[in-house]
Amino acid sequence: MNSSTRETTPASDIDRTLKVPLQLWRRLILDLRARGQGRRESGAFILGDRKGRIDRARAYVPYDALDPHAFESGIIRFSSSGYSKLWKICRESKRRVVADVHTHPTDWVDQSDSDQAHPMIPEAGHLAIILPRFAQTRWWTLDGVGLHEYHGSRRWSRRSAPARAKLVLL
Ligand SMILES: [Zn+2]
Repeated sequence: MNSSTRETTPASDIDRTLKVPLQLWRRLILDLRARGQGRRESGAFILGDRKGRIDRARAYVPYDALDPHAFESGIIRFSSSGYSKLWKICRESKRRVVADVHTHPTDWVDQSDSDQAHPMIPEAGHLAIILPRFAQTRWWTLDGVGLHEYHGSRRWSRRSAPARAKLVLL
């Protein structure tokens, strides 16, 4: 364990909770599972509303719907045109990105070096969720799910999943 994975949270970080309706979570898991076909990683931005310390997920946008080449290199490389489309969707739907989620091949749901080096949204408090086994996992529980919070300057903390205070299914 190094300094980027310790569990302490700087007091300056905003302590928010992301609430995800179970049916949305189910659709997301089944969709990422189908997109990865048990062979490759897949991922999505989760969009929602923010009220005070509560973020509520409303929708998701798969990475490859925004950037068809996002997974071509074997790791996630998201293009600026993909981000442009994402910001347009956020503007038009009046939603914000409340988390990102991607799959890993095995039960290992820590972040890769690339995951740590390239936060999808480089904003303190941003949550990155990692699903095991190409999302071939139980959709009704957060058991086995990796939850990582960004603190800025390439610093992350791993939340022991399910970190119910940070991420809850409704
Ligand atoms: Zn990863």
